[in-house]
Amino acid sequence: MPEGNKVVRINARSTELGEGLIIHRALPSKQQRTIGAWCFLDHAGPVQFAEGQGMRVGPHPHIGLQTFTWMLEGEVLHRDSLGYEQMIRPKQVNLMTAGRGIAHSENSNEAQTALHALQLWIALPRELQTIQPTFTHYPELPLHEENGCSTHVLVGQWQGLTSPVEVHSPLLAVDWQSAQAREVSWSVRNDFEYGIFVVQGAVTLEGERYEANELAYLPRGLDCIQLSAADNTHVLILGGEPMAEPLLIWWNFVGYERDQLRQAFNDWESGNTQRFGEVKNESLAPLAMPAWPWAERE
Ligand code: MN
Repeated sequence: MPEGNKVVRINARSTELGEGLIIHRALPSKQQRTIGAWCFLDHAGPVQFAEGQGMRVGPHPHIGLQTFTWMLEGEVLHRDSLGYEQMIRPKQVNLMTAGRGIAHSENSNEAQTALHALQLWIALPRELQTIQPTFTHYPELPLHEENGCSTHVLVGQWQGLTSPVEVHSPLLAVDWQSAQAREVSWSVRNDFEYGIFVVQGAVTLEGERYEANELAYLPRGLDCIQLSAADNTHVLILGGEPMAEPLLIWWNFVGYERDQLRQAFNDWESGNTQRFGEVKNESLAPLAMPAWPWAERE
């Protein structure tokens, strides 16, 4: 590893998603706000719950980002203001492009009692902040299996496989699982920064051990990532070109200018259905929006 390029340890913090579901959030963190355009990383579960419980996230808006869901266990129904209703099942991806504005809700399948999922946000580049919202479900992702090791390529290119998931900046996400302890060495792009998020098990990187819900951040400049994995290890590998300018994230809004976020706040508060639309067939109440955090004039 080049000198000065130390691996940074980030501990996910616990927070509540919707009503009652405790999740682990690794991004944004005070050590690192983004990895490429990845600007948000939530790890939900693995958790067991009574029928009718689990994920219950009422309608809420987004702008300026893509939400990316990778399901590991259980099923969640996505509903949005474009009219999409899509159940996501294990080993599937839901990608919602918010652009200028969308609203959605997410509910665990009422017949199920388990949940394990990774939910991430991808910041849209400045010039694409106001594109039309879209939603895409990917029922199957490229998979390579060898010697008790499985690799799903979720976003971008990895070891000769290419994901169909449509993103708008150079980006990578890989789900990697190994049943046995092993040493690995991956050739990587040296213009990317990387994150290794431990979902289960443990990895050792540069002599440091990282366990479940810890994220190892690797600055750009690496030609290869070497690590040793313990038995039954599952990691999410993220990568991307470092963002060229600082990103603003407030509540469910992402942008580059405070005015952009303020306009979204005003539009959602005033019930502007022209901008965000309405989530049909959803009985849950909309999420409460926090108070605007910044003074009007500074
Ligand atoms: Mn959301």
